[in-house]
Amino acid sequence: MKEQNDNNIKTLEKISAFAKRRGFVFAGSEIYGGFVGSFDYGPYGVELANNIKKVWWEAMVNREVNIVGLDSAIVTNPKVWEASGHVGGFSDPLVECKECNTRSRADHLLEEIEVLADEKMTVEEINQIFDENRQKLVCPKCGQKDFGAVSQFNLLAQTNLGNFKDDWASDPAYLRGETCQGIFINFKNVVDSTRVKVPFGIAQIGKAFRNEIAPRQYIFRKREFEQMEMQMFVEPSKDMEVYKDWKEKRMQYYLDLGFKAENLRWHEHENLVFYAKAAFDIEYKFPFGFKELEGVHARGDYDLSQHQKHSGVSMEYLDPYTNEKYVPHVVETSVGVDRTFLAVLTEFYDEDDLGGDKRVVLRFPKKLAPIKVAVFPLLKNKPALVEKAKEVFALLSEHMRTEFDDNGNVGKRYRRQDEIGTPHCVTVDFETLGEEKPELKDTVTVRDRDTGEQERIAIDDLLEYLR
Ligand code: ATP
Repeated sequence: MKEQNDNNIKTLEKISAFAKRRGFVFAGSEIYGGFVGSFDYGPYGVELANNIKKVWWEAMVNREVNIVGLDSAIVTNPKVWEASGHVGGFSDPLVECKECNTRSRADHLLEEIEVLADEKMTVEEINQIFDENRQKLVCPKCGQKDFGAVSQFNLLAQTNLGNFKDDWASDPAYLRGETCQGIFINFKNVVDSTRVKVPFGIAQIGKAFRNEIAPRQYIFRKREFEQMEMQMFVEPSKDMEVYKDWKEKRMQYYLDLGFKAENLRWHEHENLVFYAKAAFDIEYKFPFGFKELEGVHARGDYDLSQHQKHSGVSMEYLDPYTNEKYVPHVVETSVGVDRTFLAVLTEFYDEDDLGGDKRVVLRFPKKLAPIKVAVFPLLKNKPALVEKAKEVFALLSEHMRTEFDDNGNVGKRYRRQDEIGTPHCVTVDFETLGEEKPELKDTVTVRDRDTGEQERIAIDDLLEYLR
């Protein structure tokens, strides 16, 4: 079995065209000419995204003694975003091309010529660096070098939800820019209503919204995306210990999923924001190079202290073991569903030769495969075969996501399932009916996606075999 391990060969054009053709990802609002930064997940995409969330939840909530889940509102009291610093400071440096009016992120243009402009810099500092490098900076759209001045653009998206005044924009609410604020504002509720004791974590999966200036690179940077975040609340002196643990666990998580170690690496933030104690990102080798997949950060007591200050509600925790009172420190892990989706497609996409036939195959681990098993009647115009295949479908679909397919010859059906990463195909043939060899009655052919090998299995043993 040949394995291809060069993510550069898996170009973004190839992956995105494939994802569209096989019903994983569609451009958002396509029939209206699209909508920048928006994408829709198709029939197999929604299954994959659901599995990504399920696997994360299993690892972060189900298998952890000290972590509980939450599902907080997308639109909150706007004061949440003042307290968190997002209203004042959640912005990216924007620069506009004077030639074609395309807006770009100044820090990303600088990054391309390997000049660092980090989030701590003031707009004056970025302008200075930008001016020093103007000769080398080109518009990604028209190729000209004629930019205006850099300004800060706030990424929070506003909404008039619940505000019926004509001038609602002077008093807006916000679509959340990150899911973790919902966790921080519920810290007290969780402590008061459950058995948890510090150190403990709260995990949440949900949509977040950012007015990204230049959402390029497909589903890597969307304006509406989904985050999977976990905030661990810890005793102030213990945070670096907990941080170290989570750093290890999160990298291991990807290795356990079957990612190759060489496609993952750590990136340390060069300049930490003033409240952070440590910040590393897990970067994945996307088709456009190593980029952030997940952040693992030690945030000190910044978030809870800010909410304590702005709400007037104490965020102190009385430690029942030491009798000490403190505002816990936070260690967080934060990853996007959409970025995981792109990483997973890239990692497990493969092209090979099977028995002289070229094919595309997604080598998904079983947990992630959108369809776990496909059931085929050998021929669709033989009612006895179809009826038996439907019985097998009914048996399996109660336990796992199963697809019934009677379209085209069996070879074609195998290829279709290989392309969406289905680990097994089950074919009901004349031998299943016991017409030729009575000893094979009620057995089916099970074919393996990776090797193409086939085995004869009794229907009664099928579930156990597939599990
Ligand atoms: P970047 O530097 O790429 O803009 P970030 O550092 O702002 O990302 P965080 O605020 O740390 O990202 O968000 C945590 C995670 O949420 C990221 O690691 C990423 O997986 C995901 N994420 C953030 N912004 C987007 C987006 N616009 N589209 C899709 N996923 C995103």
